[in-house]
Amino acid sequence: MDLSLVDHAPDLVAIFAHEVYHFVWRRLGHPLRAEWMELLNTEKRPKHAGLSSELRYAEFLARKTKAAWKNYGCEAFCDTAAVLSHTEKPISLRRKQWFLRLIKERKLPL
Ligand SMILES: [Zn+2]
Repeated sequence: MDLSLVDHAPDLVAIFAHEVYHFVWRRLGHPLRAEWMELLNTEKRPKHAGLSSELRYAEFLARKTKAAWKNYGCEAFCDTAAVLSHTEKPISLRRKQWFLRLIKERKLPL
């Protein structure tokens, strides 16, 4: 672990939340992952919630492969969840509403 992160607690919390949501992504199930990917597919100019998803999106644009799109979807999910869980950084309203609906319906496997 990079101990300099201790001096930057918000960064540590963001990284931790992002990594936890990788496990949530795996447990989410295909129908909800497909729903998330469809939501991303409707975004003409994605408003990235973090650097990880921004880099994956650039990779997708360069490759245009299904695998690159899936990687982007996962990172966008984790970055969005991390922002929602610890900051008030503005994010896509549709993404926020999607997460809030899953939380309300108890479909987010935390
Ligand atoms: Zn990640």
